[in-house]
Amino acid sequence: MKTHYDVVVVGCGVAGCFAALHLPKTTKILMLSKGSLEECDSYLAQGGICMLKSEADFAAYLEDTLKAGHYKNNIESVKIMINSSREVIKELIDYGVTFHQTNGKLDFTREGAHSTNRILYHDDLTGKEITSVLQREVLKRDNITISTHTPMIDLLCQDNNCYGVLVKKLEQTVAILSQDVILACGGLGGIFAHSTNFPLLTGDGISLALKHDVKLKDIQYIQIHPTTLYSKESGKRFLISESVRGEGAILLNKKGERFVDELLPRDLVAKAIYQQMKKDKTDHVWLSLKTIPINIKERFPNIVKRCLEEGYDPTKDFIPVVPAQHYLMGGIWTDTLGRTTMKHLFAAGETANNGVHGANRLASNSLLESLVFAKRATTYIRENKELTLTTLENKNMETVIHTTPGTTPLTTLLINEIKKELNSNEANYYEFKY
Ligand SMILES: Cc1cc2nc3c(=O)[nH]c(=O)nc-3n(C[C@H](O)[C@H](O)[C@H](O)COP(=O)(O)OP(=O)(O)OC[C@H]3O[C@@H](n4cnc5c(N)ncnc54)[C@H](O)[C@@H]3O)c2cc1C
Repeated sequence: MKTHYDVVVVGCGVAGCFAALHLPKTTKILMLSKGSLEECDSYLAQGGICMLKSEADFAAYLEDTLKAGHYKNNIESVKIMINSSREVIKELIDYGVTFHQTNGKLDFTREGAHSTNRILYHDDLTGKEITSVLQREVLKRDNITISTHTPMIDLLCQDNNCYGVLVKKLEQTVAILSQDVILACGGLGGIFAHSTNFPLLTGDGISLALKHDVKLKDIQYIQIHPTTLYSKESGKRFLISESVRGEGAILLNKKGERFVDELLPRDLVAKAIYQQMKKDKTDHVWLSLKTIPINIKERFPNIVKRCLEEGYDPTKDFIPVVPAQHYLMGGIWTDTLGRTTMKHLFAAGETANNGVHGANRLASNSLLESLVFAKRATTYIRENKELTLTTLENKNMETVIHTTPGTTPLTTLLINEIKKELNSNEANYYEFKY
């Protein structure tokens, strides 16, 4: 394995790919993924991606994002995201991503807490469509090397400067030196007992940031998705996208009665479901898709298929649903250029916290936020290149390699940090795996 690169990008989801694609074609880039290329949450996004559909919607889009985030958002970051949305969507379309259209015009759908339709979608597989196209682009580039099944196990750093990463490759520990490192390692659903995330996503970038005193922010802001398909089996929970409720599905208690406004922000709907389950002494509530006025087999083919596989026909039956961990709003603190508090260390995507989502993410803002700020980080790197490699080569490598005691202590470190920040009321909603 080559051990010197200009930039190492840890993560091959939308944030990692978009970052790599925005670096010059002369930059030698290494991209890492912990498992296969498909094992990233970007592949799982069902609902869609937001776009500012007209200037007239700017104020409402801003307000919806802030309201969902309980006004804990960084307004500057939110404005940047909204104002960059059209440019980023155009780039996706130019790469070959397709979104649903009618008569040659983009269609917009709606999800909970949006005051209007402003979400682009590709069936109920929007994330797979976007990510597979971006990964295909990355694979075409001669300057980008992709190493899958290569977990980063530590950062190489000293005196608050990042010099690269330490990885495990085929049981070997390898030090990779680079001028800049971009952490795009996704979320941390893998540390929870019930999550919609891939289990291998255990917040590794965040726990390493914690280990090396890189600033974290709002690590306790963890989103629980109200509606995942109930199952007695453990493992990844299947998401029933919010757009199902956006199109008219309703939530019912054990008597078949509605108990909540289904289009409230996610955290409020999840809390209402937990309370209802407690009241009814049940493990789940019911979701009815029969109230959706359009053809659900055409609009949600993937969800219908999965429900049928589990023995429920959503055209006839109610679907049992339960909340599960879904998304991390907090993460490694960054400014609006993706810079962390460590020099030459950047973060983007779900691993990062630039303040867009506040205390609760508005549906379909995550793919957009990941793309916008990954691009901004690489634009900064491109324009402010500082050569650190020469500095590092003069250093004794032993002093920058801090061998980690293993992944479990790192995960414990992260869980303890989250628990420290949670209040007792919130803590009731989270069940950790370890
Ligand atoms: C079921 C589901 C549905 C969703 N629906 C939507 C939606 O409709 N709209 C929306 O906007 N958002 C949605 N989201 C959220 C969104 O998909 C994610 O927040 C976003 O895709 C995160 O992208 P990312 O690039 O930051 O991380 P990911 O796509 O998760 O990629 C993380 C990458 O980091 C790598 N990695 C992690 N740790 C290491 C390590 N130690 N070493 C090396 N590599 C590592 C992984 O292998 C992977 O390649 C959904 C999420 C889920 C789970």
